[in-house]
Amino acid sequence: MVQRGLLSTLSQHVSDCAPAYRYAVIADATVFAHHGDVLQRGFPSDRTLFLTVPPGEREKTREQWARLTDALLEWGAGRDTTVVAVGGGVVCDLAGFVAATFMRGVPVVQVPTTLLAMVDASVGGKTGVDTAAGKNLVGAFHNPAAVIVDPDVLLTLPLPTFRSGLAEMIKHGVLASESYFEALNLALPELAGETGALAQALPQLIADSIGIKANVVIDDEREGGVRQTLNFGHTIAHAIEQQAGYGMLHGDAVAIGLVVESEIAVQLGIANATVGQRVREAVLRAGLPVKVPSGINLSRVLSATYGDKKARSGVARYALPQRIGAMTPGDGAWSVGVSDEVAGAALKRHS
Ligand code: NAD
Repeated sequence: MVQRGLLSTLSQHVSDCAPAYRYAVIADATVFAHHGDVLQRGFPSDRTLFLTVPPGEREKTREQWARLTDALLEWGAGRDTTVVAVGGGVVCDLAGFVAATFMRGVPVVQVPTTLLAMVDASVGGKTGVDTAAGKNLVGAFHNPAAVIVDPDVLLTLPLPTFRSGLAEMIKHGVLASESYFEALNLALPELAGETGALAQALPQLIADSIGIKANVVIDDEREGGVRQTLNFGHTIAHAIEQQAGYGMLHGDAVAIGLVVESEIAVQLGIANATVGQRVREAVLRAGLPVKVPSGINLSRVLSATYGDKKARSGVARYALPQRIGAMTPGDGAWSVGVSDEVAGAALKRHS
């Protein structure tokens, strides 16, 4: 459900989609500070618990999961509870994981409040937390009962955070639809501007992006095949984020990953050079970075690609584009083993 103004009637939509006796609203603290009054409207005060999570990736931990779960237990929540996750990707993943594990699983309604979370993190049922060994290494698949998207909530989002979400939208165009990629490209200058969140094209572009992700996920709920394509840009992105100590925006790391991994596809002869150029141009139009931040050691980034879940049999694996709108099926696993030499050279060209 994507519609401007939906937040003001959130409780009604939640009780329609996932009716429960109790509601546990788990919200990002910054989002709650901006939108708490509207959010609380309509929820039964005696049967609703509002919990906040401090902002930032560093809070996507087992410790926060335990704190939230303990708070639900202390409150007396049971299987009669629907969890409502309100925030960016961090809260979508964290609160989703709380819902996935609480009493062996209670319904979750995702209410994403960053662009990245709207088009990506809230769709597809992946939930989890980070550990010192890497991102998202502990988690569960738990599909939301509904995803409720109010683009107006993006008006309070800092511009760099808003823009970082454009990376996943570019990714969706590359992996599934040239026409979507083109429509997005047309809108990118306005979307990357000061008032991008007000762009008229935004709600439809969000809905189409969700549609692309949902289609991929429906075909492969447990990531055995085509869902690997959603990892385009992410082998490199996760490695950069780990080396940056999770101190950068996920979408910014994805933007760099899209550019570097397109370059790898070109170098391997999987895609022609125009694919690399078009991806790079789109990332630049979105006002996103195309180079690995200075101070990050490239050979450590390369080593970190092995820690990623996509590495199998000692070779780092990448989901790579064939052209704009289609990914390479590889050997049927929708990913390709790439040598350090090729990946290292592509990284070097973008540092
Ligand atoms: P985030 O959740 O950390 O949010 C970014 C910042 O924006 C935070 O400081 C937050 O407080 C603030 N914020 C959020 N909404 C706001 C609003 N409306 N107004 C003002 N401030 C607001 O980061 P993110 O970029 O949304 O998400 C990144 C996370 O998503 C990563 O952990 C990543 O692994 C995860 N992710 C998960 C999936 C999945 O399929 N589960 C997919 C992609 C990304």
